[in-house]
Amino acid sequence: MDKIIKTISESGYFRAFVLDSTETVRTAQEKHQTKASSTVALGRTLIASQILAANEKGDTKITVKVLGTSSLGAIITVADTKGKVKGYVQNPGVDIKKTATGEVVVGPFVGQGEFLVITNYGTGNPYHSMTPLISGEIGEDLAFYLTESQQTPSAVGLNVLLDEEDKVKVAGGFLLQVLPGAKEADITRFEKRIQNMPAISTLLESDDHIEALLAAIYGDEPYKRLSEEEIRFQCDCSKERFMNALASLPKVDLEEMRDQDKGAEITCQFCQTTYTFDQNDLEELIRDKS
Ligand SMILES: [Zn+2]
Repeated sequence: MDKIIKTISESGYFRAFVLDSTETVRTAQEKHQTKASSTVALGRTLIASQILAANEKGDTKITVKVLGTSSLGAIITVADTKGKVKGYVQNPGVDIKKTATGEVVVGPFVGQGEFLVITNYGTGNPYHSMTPLISGEIGEDLAFYLTESQQTPSAVGLNVLLDEEDKVKVAGGFLLQVLPGAKEADITRFEKRIQNMPAISTLLESDDHIEALLAAIYGDEPYKRLSEEEIRFQCDCSKERFMNALASLPKVDLEEMRDQDKGAEITCQFCQTTYTFDQNDLEELIRDKS
Protein backbone atom coordinates (compact mmCIF):
# COMPACT_ATOMS: atom_id res chain seq x y z
CA MET A 1 0.00 0.00 0.00
CA ASP A 2 1.34 3.40 -0.99
CA LYS A 3 1.16 6.26 1.46
CA ILE A 4 1.84 9.92 2.02
CA ILE A 5 2.99 11.13 5.42
CA LYS A 6 2.42 14.75 6.35
CA THR A 7 4.70 16.29 8.94
CA ILE A 8 5.46 19.68 10.48
CA SER A 9 8.51 20.91 12.37
CA GLU A 10 7.96 21.46 16.08
CA SER A 11 8.53 25.19 15.46
CA GLY A 12 5.57 25.12 13.06
CA TYR A 13 7.46 26.92 10.27
CA PHE A 14 8.43 23.99 8.04
CA ARG A 15 6.26 21.27 6.70
CA ALA A 16 7.15 18.20 4.69
CA PHE A 17 5.30 15.48 2.82
CA VAL A 18 7.02 12.20 2.06
CA LEU A 19 5.56 9.65 -0.32
CA ASP A 20 5.85 6.01 -1.18
CA SER A 21 4.37 5.75 -4.69
CA THR A 22 5.82 2.39 -5.70
CA GLU A 23 2.51 0.58 -6.26
CA THR A 24 1.04 3.64 -7.99
CA VAL A 25 3.77 3.67 -10.64
CA ARG A 26 3.85 -0.13 -10.87
CA THR A 27 0.11 -0.15 -11.64
CA ALA A 28 0.58 2.59 -14.23
CA GLN A 29 3.34 0.58 -15.89
CA GLU A 30 1.18 -2.56 -16.01
CA LYS A 31 -1.83 -0.74 -17.41
CA HIS A 32 0.04 1.23 -20.05
CA GLN A 33 2.86 -1.24 -20.82
CA THR A 34 5.39 1.58 -20.55
CA LYS A 35 9.10 1.01 -21.21
CA ALA A 36 12.07 2.47 -19.31
CA SER A 37 11.93 6.20 -20.00
CA SER A 38 8.16 6.33 -20.42
CA THR A 39 7.67 4.59 -17.04
CA VAL A 40 9.94 7.03 -15.26
CA ALA A 41 8.45 10.10 -17.00
CA LEU A 42 4.86 9.03 -16.32
CA GLY A 43 5.76 7.87 -12.80
CA ARG A 44 7.40 11.18 -11.89
CA THR A 45 4.37 13.08 -13.20
CA LEU A 46 2.02 10.86 -11.16
CA ILE A 47 4.09 11.58 -8.03
CA ALA A 48 4.13 15.32 -8.86
CA SER A 49 0.34 15.36 -8.98
CA GLN A 50 0.10 13.32 -5.76
CA ILE A 51 2.24 16.01 -4.10
CA LEU A 52 0.13 18.86 -5.51
CA ALA A 53 -3.13 17.16 -4.49
CA ALA A 54 -1.80 16.61 -0.96
CA ASN A 55 -1.39 20.37 -0.76
CA GLU A 56 -5.11 20.94 -1.37
CA LYS A 57 -8.12 20.75 0.92
CA GLY A 58 -11.72 19.69 0.42
CA ASP A 59 -12.85 17.89 -2.71
CA THR A 60 -10.24 19.19 -5.15
CA LYS A 61 -8.85 17.66 -8.35
CA ILE A 62 -5.42 18.48 -9.74
CA THR A 63 -4.62 17.85 -13.38
CA VAL A 64 -0.96 18.02 -14.41
CA LYS A 65 -0.19 18.28 -18.11
CA VAL A 66 3.43 17.96 -19.13
CA LEU A 67 3.19 19.32 -22.65
CA GLY A 68 6.60 18.56 -24.13
CA THR A 69 7.48 18.61 -27.80
CA SER A 70 9.69 15.51 -27.89
CA SER A 71 8.97 11.82 -28.54
CA LEU A 72 7.03 10.98 -25.36
CA GLY A 73 4.27 13.40 -26.33
CA ALA A 74 1.99 14.78 -23.63
CA ILE A 75 1.85 13.28 -20.14
CA ILE A 76 -1.51 13.81 -18.42
CA THR A 77 -2.29 12.93 -14.80
CA VAL A 78 -5.22 13.67 -12.50
CA ALA A 79 -5.04 13.37 -8.72
CA ASP A 80 -7.67 14.09 -6.08
CA THR A 81 -7.64 14.86 -2.37
CA LYS A 82 -8.89 11.35 -1.58
CA GLY A 83 -5.57 9.75 -2.58
CA LYS A 84 -6.52 8.62 -6.08
CA VAL A 85 -4.40 9.33 -9.14
CA LYS A 86 -4.69 8.29 -12.78
CA GLY A 87 -2.59 9.15 -15.80
CA TYR A 88 -1.13 8.28 -19.15
CA VAL A 89 1.70 9.15 -21.48
CA GLN A 90 0.82 9.73 -25.11
CA ASN A 91 3.59 7.50 -26.50
CA PRO A 92 4.21 4.75 -23.92
CA GLY A 93 6.49 2.63 -26.08
CA VAL A 94 8.79 4.89 -28.08
CA ASP A 95 11.84 4.96 -25.86
CA ILE A 96 13.85 2.36 -24.06
CA LYS A 97 17.15 4.15 -23.77
CA LYS A 98 19.46 4.34 -20.80
CA THR A 99 22.82 6.04 -20.33
CA ALA A 100 26.00 4.00 -19.86
CA THR A 101 25.63 4.35 -16.07
CA GLY A 102 22.12 2.89 -16.08
CA GLU A 103 20.44 6.24 -15.52
CA VAL A 104 17.09 6.42 -17.30
CA VAL A 105 16.92 9.29 -19.79
CA VAL A 106 13.78 11.42 -19.38
CA GLY A 107 14.35 15.11 -20.12
CA PRO A 108 15.31 14.84 -23.81
CA PHE A 109 12.27 12.63 -24.47
CA VAL A 110 9.96 15.16 -22.83
CA GLY A 111 11.60 18.10 -24.56
CA GLN A 112 10.71 21.75 -24.26
CA GLY A 113 7.23 22.96 -23.55
CA GLU A 114 4.87 23.71 -20.71
CA PHE A 115 4.07 22.42 -17.24
CA LEU A 116 0.36 23.10 -16.87
CA VAL A 117 -1.59 22.62 -13.66
CA ILE A 118 -5.38 22.78 -13.57
CA THR A 119 -6.94 22.99 -10.12
CA ASN A 120 -10.61 22.08 -9.98
CA TYR A 121 -12.28 22.98 -6.69
CA GLY A 122 -15.55 21.47 -7.86
CA THR A 123 -17.14 24.88 -8.23
CA GLY A 124 -17.07 24.88 -12.04
CA ASN A 125 -14.27 27.41 -12.46
CA PRO A 126 -11.02 25.47 -12.79
CA TYR A 127 -7.90 27.49 -12.11
CA HIS A 128 -5.12 27.22 -14.75
CA SER A 129 -1.49 27.91 -13.97
CA MET A 130 1.42 27.32 -16.31
CA THR A 131 5.21 27.54 -16.25
CA PRO A 132 7.76 26.56 -18.90
CA LEU A 133 9.47 23.18 -18.62
CA ILE A 134 12.92 23.80 -17.15
CA SER A 135 14.57 20.47 -17.93
CA GLY A 136 11.77 18.00 -18.68
CA GLU A 137 12.96 15.93 -15.70
CA ILE A 138 9.59 16.66 -13.98
CA GLY A 139 11.01 17.11 -10.45
CA GLU A 140 12.81 20.34 -11.42
CA ASP A 141 9.79 21.43 -13.42
CA LEU A 142 7.52 20.95 -10.41
CA ALA A 143 9.94 22.83 -8.13
CA PHE A 144 10.00 25.74 -10.58
CA TYR A 145 6.22 25.68 -10.86
CA LEU A 146 5.80 25.77 -7.06
CA THR A 147 8.26 28.64 -6.65
CA GLU A 148 6.74 30.70 -9.48
CA SER A 149 3.06 30.07 -8.97
CA GLN A 150 2.55 29.44 -5.28
CA GLN A 151 5.12 31.85 -3.86
CA THR A 152 5.88 29.37 -1.11
CA PRO A 153 9.58 28.52 -1.03
CA SER A 154 9.68 24.78 -1.72
CA ALA A 155 12.15 21.98 -2.19
CA VAL A 156 11.00 18.90 -4.02
CA GLY A 157 12.50 15.55 -4.92
CA LEU A 158 10.91 12.64 -6.74
CA ASN A 159 12.02 9.65 -8.73
CA VAL A 160 11.26 6.16 -10.01
CA LEU A 161 13.89 3.42 -9.88
CA LEU A 162 13.72 0.43 -12.22
CA ASP A 163 15.17 -3.05 -11.90
CA GLU A 164 17.19 -4.86 -14.60
CA GLU A 165 14.02 -5.80 -16.45
CA ASP A 166 12.88 -2.17 -16.43
CA LYS A 167 10.11 -2.98 -13.94
CA VAL A 168 9.38 -0.52 -11.13
CA LYS A 169 11.58 -1.22 -8.10
CA VAL A 170 10.68 1.79 -5.97
CA ALA A 171 9.06 5.18 -6.49
CA GLY A 172 8.52 8.12 -4.18
CA GLY A 173 9.36 11.66 -3.30
CA PHE A 174 9.08 14.57 -0.92
CA LEU A 175 8.01 18.18 -0.66
CA LEU A 176 9.42 20.60 1.91
CA GLN A 177 7.83 24.02 2.34
CA VAL A 178 8.77 27.07 4.35
CA LEU A 179 5.73 28.59 6.05
CA PRO A 180 5.20 32.31 6.72
CA GLY A 181 7.07 33.64 9.74
CA ALA A 182 10.08 31.32 9.52
CA LYS A 183 13.31 32.92 10.74
CA GLU A 184 16.20 33.47 8.29
CA ALA A 185 18.61 31.38 10.36
CA ASP A 186 16.20 28.43 10.41
CA ILE A 187 15.59 28.69 6.64
CA THR A 188 19.34 28.70 6.01
CA ARG A 189 19.76 25.60 8.15
CA PHE A 190 17.04 23.70 6.26
CA GLU A 191 18.44 24.89 2.93
CA LYS A 192 21.91 23.65 3.79
CA ARG A 193 20.54 20.27 4.80
CA ILE A 194 18.59 19.93 1.54
CA GLN A 195 21.66 20.92 -0.49
CA ASN A 196 23.78 18.31 1.26
CA MET A 197 21.09 15.66 1.13
CA PRO A 198 22.00 12.39 -0.62
CA ALA A 199 20.55 12.02 -4.13
CA ILE A 200 16.85 11.15 -4.14
CA SER A 201 17.62 7.82 -5.86
CA THR A 202 20.06 6.91 -3.06
CA LEU A 203 17.40 7.68 -0.43
CA LEU A 204 14.76 5.72 -2.32
CA GLU A 205 17.08 2.71 -2.28
CA SER A 206 17.15 2.64 1.53
CA ASP A 207 15.34 -0.23 3.26
CA ASP A 208 12.73 2.21 4.52
CA HIS A 209 12.85 5.20 2.21
CA ILE A 210 10.08 7.06 4.07
CA GLU A 211 12.24 7.16 7.22
CA ALA A 212 15.37 7.92 5.18
CA LEU A 213 13.64 10.90 3.55
CA LEU A 214 12.36 12.23 6.89
CA ALA A 215 15.83 11.91 8.42
CA ALA A 216 17.39 13.71 5.45
CA ILE A 217 14.84 16.54 5.63
CA TYR A 218 14.77 17.14 9.39
CA GLY A 219 18.18 15.95 10.57
CA ASP A 220 18.09 16.21 14.38
CA GLU A 221 15.25 18.73 14.45
CA PRO A 222 12.06 17.66 16.20
CA TYR A 223 8.96 17.29 14.08
CA LYS A 224 5.44 15.93 14.38
CA ARG A 225 3.63 13.47 12.12
CA LEU A 226 0.29 14.99 11.28
CA SER A 227 -1.22 12.19 9.23
CA GLU A 228 -0.60 9.10 7.16
CA GLU A 229 -2.91 8.62 4.17
CA GLU A 230 -3.24 5.93 1.54
CA ILE A 231 -2.51 6.90 -2.08
CA ARG A 232 -3.06 4.72 -5.15
CA PHE A 233 -3.49 4.55 -8.92
CA GLN A 234 -7.23 4.30 -9.46
CA CYS A 235 -9.29 5.40 -12.43
CA ASP A 236 -12.81 6.72 -12.00
CA CYS A 237 -14.09 5.59 -15.39
CA SER A 238 -17.18 3.41 -15.81
CA LYS A 239 -19.43 2.11 -18.57
CA GLU A 240 -22.03 4.64 -17.47
CA ARG A 241 -19.60 7.54 -17.94
CA PHE A 242 -18.75 6.50 -21.47
CA MET A 243 -22.43 5.85 -22.15
CA ASN A 244 -23.03 9.51 -21.24
CA ALA A 245 -20.24 10.53 -23.61
CA LEU A 246 -21.80 8.47 -26.41
CA ALA A 247 -25.16 10.05 -25.68
CA SER A 248 -23.78 13.43 -26.72
CA LEU A 249 -23.07 12.16 -30.26
CA PRO A 250 -25.49 12.99 -33.10
CA LYS A 251 -28.26 10.45 -33.65
CA VAL A 252 -27.01 9.66 -37.15
CA ASP A 253 -23.59 8.63 -35.78
CA LEU A 254 -25.19 6.36 -33.21
CA GLU A 255 -27.35 4.76 -35.91
CA GLU A 256 -24.28 4.16 -38.03
CA MET A 257 -22.54 2.44 -35.10
CA ARG A 258 -25.61 0.30 -34.53
CA ASP A 259 -26.18 -0.68 -38.16
CA GLN A 260 -22.68 -0.81 -39.64
CA ASP A 261 -20.34 -1.50 -36.72
CA LYS A 262 -22.97 -3.56 -34.80
CA GLY A 263 -21.77 -1.93 -31.60
CA ALA A 264 -19.03 0.28 -30.25
CA GLU A 265 -15.87 -0.11 -28.21
CA ILE A 266 -14.27 2.61 -26.13
CA THR A 267 -10.93 2.35 -24.33
CA CYS A 268 -10.21 4.65 -21.40
CA GLN A 269 -7.01 6.61 -22.04
CA PHE A 270 -6.18 6.79 -18.35
CA CYS A 271 -6.39 3.08 -17.49
CA GLN A 272 -6.76 1.16 -20.78
CA THR A 273 -10.02 -0.47 -19.71
CA THR A 274 -12.17 -1.27 -22.75
CA TYR A 275 -15.94 -0.92 -22.57
CA THR A 276 -18.17 -2.65 -25.11
CA PHE A 277 -21.51 -1.25 -26.18
CA ASP A 278 -23.76 -3.65 -28.05
CA GLN A 279 -26.62 -2.85 -30.41
CA ASN A 280 -29.10 -2.77 -27.49
CA ASP A 281 -27.01 -0.16 -25.65
CA LEU A 282 -26.91 1.98 -28.81
CA GLU A 283 -30.61 1.43 -29.40
CA GLU A 284 -31.32 2.78 -25.94
CA LEU A 285 -29.31 5.93 -26.66
CA ILE A 286 -31.00 6.43 -30.03
CA ARG A 287 -34.44 6.02 -28.43
CA ASP A 288 -33.61 8.67 -25.84
CA LYS A 289 -32.84 11.09 -28.68
CA SER A 290 -36.18 10.84 -30.40
ZN1 LIG B 1 -10.24 4.50 -16.82
